[in-house]
Amino acid sequence: MKSTEDPLCPLYVGGEWKQITAQAVASVYNPSRGSVIASVPMCGAAEVDEVVAAAKAAFPDWRDTPPNERAQVLFRVKILLEDAFEELCLGISTEHGKTLSEARGDLRRGIDVVEFACGIPTLLMGESLENIARGIDCHTDRHPLGVVAGICPFNFPALVPMWMWPIAIACGNTFVLKPSEKVPLTMQRVVGLLEKAGLPPGVMNIVHGGRECVDAILEHPDVAAISFVGSTPIAREIHRKASLQGKRVQAAGGAKNFVILMPDADVERTVEAVKDGAFGCAGERCMAGSTAVAVGEAGDRLLPALADLVSSMKVGPTDVREVQPDMGAVISAEHKARVSGLVDAGERAGAKVLADGRKAAVDEAPDGFFLGPTVIDQVAPDNPLMETEVFGPVLAVLRAKTLDDAVELANRQAFGNGAAIFTNSGKAAREFRRQVSAGMVGINVGVPAPLAYFPFTGWNDSFFGDLHIQGKEGVEFFTKRKTTTTRWFSFGDGEIWAK
Ligand code: NAD
Repeated sequence: MKSTEDPLCPLYVGGEWKQITAQAVASVYNPSRGSVIASVPMCGAAEVDEVVAAAKAAFPDWRDTPPNERAQVLFRVKILLEDAFEELCLGISTEHGKTLSEARGDLRRGIDVVEFACGIPTLLMGESLENIARGIDCHTDRHPLGVVAGICPFNFPALVPMWMWPIAIACGNTFVLKPSEKVPLTMQRVVGLLEKAGLPPGVMNIVHGGRECVDAILEHPDVAAISFVGSTPIAREIHRKASLQGKRVQAAGGAKNFVILMPDADVERTVEAVKDGAFGCAGERCMAGSTAVAVGEAGDRLLPALADLVSSMKVGPTDVREVQPDMGAVISAEHKARVSGLVDAGERAGAKVLADGRKAAVDEAPDGFFLGPTVIDQVAPDNPLMETEVFGPVLAVLRAKTLDDAVELANRQAFGNGAAIFTNSGKAAREFRRQVSAGMVGINVGVPAPLAYFPFTGWNDSFFGDLHIQGKEGVEFFTKRKTTTTRWFSFGDGEIWAK
């Protein structure tokens, strides 16, 4: 766990932490305080060449390490992650701004992926058929791709990188991680644990930076596959560029997840779930339920209770273990201004603010990037709030007469990550599940994010590629199949042991 306190984050190359002197650096903030806690070097092609070379050199040995031995390293990592759990979570809260309980969820879901990857001997098993013709057998098995790279967003400092590397390395690949330049410290600590668990040098590597660094990864001839998670414009571009380079690519993008509120929904439980879905992690979740559609009487039944509940939420710093708020800061001052500006624009376009988080003041942390929770009602389909992913603590509420109208509103937008319905009607739930154009659906579940054993099945502009992240699709993504057809001839006159 060396070098975690250094203000300039080191690279991790071939098992060594390497400080570089970079011309350009990006600041890493503690969003609760608005203070700089570290910086990252903005690397380019030279550093990418170095980490890819280290990963390439480590590949032959790691590929030949039996899957059960690779799994043993992951079992040890899992124990080390559990031992360091609380310390890592406080680190997540400090560099990201989310509450400690949200940070626990972030890391816990990541550990789930490590546990899933520990089953790699079973997951890698192939298929075989004896006697496809007389005396001929056929079997297909999985092989790693080589050097693979992961490029991550800021909003889940633990989980998103852990969607990628546990499965990738368990499959026998070597890995280049490019964490978000906004939250590099969590994975730096976790990679320290991989080192302690005995992961051979070069199997995991870290390089830092932004566009220039990512472009160098995309163009590198020795990188076989790219796993990307981030906003839609970048995801689309990554998919295009990596595909042009002949690489395998999965690119998960942004979202605008609709939550349909039916008139027969249970008021108390629905309001609680809608609040959690919209304001958990300060709305900075790709599965946030950011857009509600109240059908018929549902608005009048649910919204007063929701506005009351939201107004009682406490916003504050999350970097102190003892006192935790209901919601933390957003990632940066720029993001705070952007989200606030979108609410202004939404209000100017005629929507009605029921709970206003724009002027949230936190006395004990006056420089933090805080916004309170905002609920904005009567949002028209052509309101500026509907044109983009807000990615902040804002719940936009639209009104619809029928379930069909609500689904039509949801399907009109370009994204397709998640969608949820709150109802007591099985028929309404079934119709919604079938008709909504989103890849992850919740029935009375506000944030239907699948666990490690299932794929994270975003649709439309929320995902570019064929094989999704996580679960068996993740194993499929990080391996290629080889199919072998075998025939053995008999010696001499047909007596097998004759000579
Ligand atoms: P982002 O797109 O700004 O950055 C993601 C990564 O891309 C970072 O590592 C960044 O350094 C890199 N990057 C930025 N600009 C680039 C460019 N021009 N060329 C190449 N690389 C570039 O995303 P973010 O703000 O860090 O994260 C939030 C976004 O991620 C939201 O849109 C959210 O919905 C999305 N997200 C999606 C999922 C999902 O599963 N669909 C999960 C988590 C987050």
